[in-house]
Amino acid sequence: MYKITKSGWLEIITGPMYCGKSEELIRRLNRVKIAKQKVRVFKPVLDDRYSKKDVVSHSGNSIEAVPVDHPEEILKRIDKTVDVVGIDEAQFFHSDLVAICEELADEGIRVILAGLDRDFRNQPFGPMPELMARAEYVDKLHAICIQCGEPASRTQRLINGQPARADDPVILVGAAEVYEARCRSCHSLRT
Ligand code: ADP
Ligand code: ZN
Repeated sequence: MYKITKSGWLEIITGPMYCGKSEELIRRLNRVKIAKQKVRVFKPVLDDRYSKKDVVSHSGNSIEAVPVDHPEEILKRIDKTVDVVGIDEAQFFHSDLVAICEELADEGIRVILAGLDRDFRNQPFGPMPELMARAEYVDKLHAICIQCGEPASRTQRLINGQPARADDPVILVGAAEVYEARCRSCHSLRT
């Protein structure tokens, strides 16, 4: 791989839940800080898995982030001195994120995005497909399948212990809901 030196660029870290996207984003951003570059980190307001303000991985690492509602706010919160922009849970952002990331990269900023490539129905998620198509670098990580131990590329949704249906609502009041990493063979949807 050749290093880009004369412009900004877009790099994506993607895969299913638990594959280590947040961990890898935090690792890259910490190295940026060691290099004394100026970094700003954003996440969508709705993701408050562990913390409203930080990006937190399942293994407990974290980095400070600014929660934003709409991707336009990212432009308002950075200035010409910023070298790197990190964005977690990119799949939840409005499709305007694509144009905004392109604009940032055109201005010379390194943009590092982490997000789910597909939802629990195995459908491409939000702005991720277009971001992946436009990025200079894409890393697809795998988790470990909870059923069989193979590399997992999919996210399984379980409701009260049963595979979810494709049309089950996103929010189910009173139901015990979990998400697991699973491989192609072990992933299923209830019909
Ligand atoms: P993501 O952001 O992709 O959801 P995280 O970076 O938050 O992932 O968490 C990755 C960590 O999750 C791993 O380092 C590991 O400690 C833990 N983990 C829990 N379940 C699994 C699994 N099924 N496969 C891989 N890692 C898992
Ligand atoms: Zn499996």
